Amino acid sequence: MIQNNSSDNNNQPLAKRLGNEGRINELADLKDQVAARDAELIRIKRERDFEIQELNEIKAQLEDAKNVLEVRVSAKTKELRDLTGNLEKEIEARTRELQEKVKESEQSRVALMNMLEDMEDLRRRAEEEKEKTLAIITNFADGLLFFDSNDDLALANPQIETCFAVSKEDILSVIGKKISELEKVAGFKPLVELVAGSLKKISRKELFLSEKLVLEVSSLEVSSRHGKIGTLVTIHDITREKTVERMKTEFVSIAAHQLRTPISAIKWTLRMILDGDLGPINEEQRDFLDKTYKSNERMINLINDLLNVTRIEEGRHLYNLILVNLEDIVSALVGTYSELFKQKRLTLEFEKPKKALPQVKIDVEKMRLVVSNLIENAIKYTPAGGKISVSVGGDDANIKISVRDTGMGILKDQEPRIFTKYFRGSNAIRMETEGTGLGLFIAKNIVETHGGKIDFVSREGEGTIFTFLVPVAKN
Ligand code: ADP
Repeated sequence: MIQNNSSDNNNQPLAKRLGNEGRINELADLKDQVAARDAELIRIKRERDFEIQELNEIKAQLEDAKNVLEVRVSAKTKELRDLTGNLEKEIEARTRELQEKVKESEQSRVALMNMLEDMEDLRRRAEEEKEKTLAIITNFADGLLFFDSNDDLALANPQIETCFAVSKEDILSVIGKKISELEKVAGFKPLVELVAGSLKKISRKELFLSEKLVLEVSSLEVSSRHGKIGTLVTIHDITREKTVERMKTEFVSIAAHQLRTPISAIKWTLRMILDGDLGPINEEQRDFLDKTYKSNERMINLINDLLNVTRIEEGRHLYNLILVNLEDIVSALVGTYSELFKQKRLTLEFEKPKKALPQVKIDVEKMRLVVSNLIENAIKYTPAGGKISVSVGGDDANIKISVRDTGMGILKDQEPRIFTKYFRGSNAIRMETEGTGLGLFIAKNIVETHGGKIDFVSREGEGTIFTFLVPVAKN
């Protein structure tokens, strides 16, 4: 309160106040107080100034810091802007890339769909083909057995049931089995025996089940571009063919037998006339009768050939098997042709074995037929001046007989047919009109029924060698 008053009084002139001592002291105190106050104010002011200076410094510092910060902020902003720019570009590129990829995958999807459609189409077609093949197999007239690449039975058509008198269940029980296991079903036993339990190539093997059922079995490997798929066994019913063949054979056999008696009678009658038993004949008559006799002889040969063929076909042409020395038989036989050799102006050579040969067990008559067929062919197909060599040799296992000639030879392309029934070479027909084409068929059958083999080597215009082997008899 005092201070407030004094402050009011300070503005009054100093002389007015000096009149009063107390007032002077008071004033002095006041003055001191004012001085102290001033000093205080000065100190405060100094402090303030100092603070202001300090604040200014801080402000300057802050100003600096602000500037630095601004620079930094602007740098960062720029950096951020750059980054944003790059990022945007990258996002754009990525987006484009993704769009490309989406497009590509869309294209792939479409392509895949197309492929799926194509595959579906192919699958449908394959299915149709399979159905068609199955329908063909099912309705095929022959019995069919299909073994897969592992030789396991994969398929059998319904005709198999009739062929082997087996039931559907029987067939189902052997599906997936090897051929050797098929014999578990009794009806299949003859088939398994015929193929000897293996699926190797079989060509037209006959399976005689009864008078009323004869089957022909063939097997064939089925392959594709990728290799073997399996083996197809076909079973063809040949009962009718066999019956007709048998009837034909029977007819030929009966006809030949029936013809043999009158033809033999003619032969002996002619012989008697020619020998003058019935009185003298003149030269012209002899000439005619001689020709008739020779024609009759050919007819007898033909009938004998036919009878031999029918016997072969009936499987009954080996009768009397006896132990003999084949060399003796051949040697005697060659001798009977010496006259014919002379007539045809051919040289004959007989080559005997170097050492004694073991005996063979043969039907002598039939074996003679083989040797004479070969010698007669050599004579027929070798022009005058040629040479024929017959040789007998062999070892402990086989006796080997060869007939070699220097004749017309066999045409290369006709070689595979030489042993077939009724076959005659075109060059042979030109050279020798007479002939039945049965001689070699008969010879081959006889040799093979004896367990032997017959073959030939020939060169057209140079000659032929026929060779056959007969196995030595085992004790
Ligand atoms: P054919 O002699 O009656 O014609 P084959 O069965 O004996 O009948 O002989 C069949 C065929 O083999 C003959 O027609 C002939 O073409 C040929 N052939 C057989 N032997 C000889 C041979 N030595 N030289 C040439 N060809 C032969």
